[in-house]
Amino acid sequence: MDAISYQRAADIGSAIQAGSHPGTVYIGGGTNLLDLMKGGVARPAKLVDITHIGGLDTITTLPDGGLRIGALVRNSDAANHTWVRERYPLLSQAFLAGASAQLRNMATVGGNLMQRTRCYYFYDTAFPQCNKRNPGSGCAALEGNTRIHAILGASNQCIATNPSDMSVALAALDAVVRVSGRDGERAIPFAEFHRLPGDRPDLDTTLKPGELITAVDLPPPLFADHSKYLKVRDRASYAFALVSVAAALQMDGNTVKTARIALGGVAHKPWRANATEAALIGKTLDRATLQSAAALAVQGAKPQRDNAFKVTLAQRAIVRAVEQAGGAA
Ligand code: SF4
Repeated sequence: MDAISYQRAADIGSAIQAGSHPGTVYIGGGTNLLDLMKGGVARPAKLVDITHIGGLDTITTLPDGGLRIGALVRNSDAANHTWVRERYPLLSQAFLAGASAQLRNMATVGGNLMQRTRCYYFYDTAFPQCNKRNPGSGCAALEGNTRIHAILGASNQCIATNPSDMSVALAALDAVVRVSGRDGERAIPFAEFHRLPGDRPDLDTTLKPGELITAVDLPPPLFADHSKYLKVRDRASYAFALVSVAAALQMDGNTVKTARIALGGVAHKPWRANATEAALIGKTLDRATLQSAAALAVQGAKPQRDNAFKVTLAQRAIVRAVEQAGGAA
């Protein structure tokens, strides 16, 4: 058994000071981290408990009309907050599609951003080959069961997917992640927060060592009238997405004025379907237009042995999500 030290941080400054030492990990809700520790996948030397830092568990409005969601806001509280439900229903739907009610009651927004892949081989330490868990060791998934793995943006080092529903909605909404570290505060555009695996699949995000997520900022709400989070999974009760779609539209009558489409379950990070978005601008939402736009989202897809179905599933999910998002038009 490994010895682990524990420190309860009273404020952001002391958390960052403690968190800058190698082997130190911040703990909030712990819903993913404790699983990883129990399985021997994560072996931190020290836990810094951030749950008693004041001011990180609130949702506040921003001067530009946007919303700031503190990193310690529980997923269920964010999902059910009046401002989130009314102004960002896409995000509320994504929160409620994730995990179980019990987990949502514990999990924090910051922790949701940091949750790690559900690749079977990452969690099973009986498989020594996992470049994410053990850099340079290989990738057991490449020769294994690849049903849940990536079809876009993978590398020959790792084909894992990001499991977060919340993050898919945040990608579509162009959220910004606010962090604090020894060099001060910075704001990371959502598209730059999660990484593709490349040759460093052990790194999920662009956070610098010791940086602490303090909040997520949402731009002013533009899509409250026309948005949909659609999650396709093996069990409706509780499962990670095989494919998910966050679709957000601004409509001018029956014509698309602005479109934001992000996919989950297909890549190492939430995947923005930029070509699909561009193809929808100025169009009406007829089935032929949607199908040709959806096909653009999977151009260049490289399915693994067991998941070619995701290429078709992603296109169909986009068509359905965009149709439902535009349904009131
Ligand atoms: Fe590890 Fe990534 Fe390979 Fe899964 S896909 S075994 S997480 S390296």
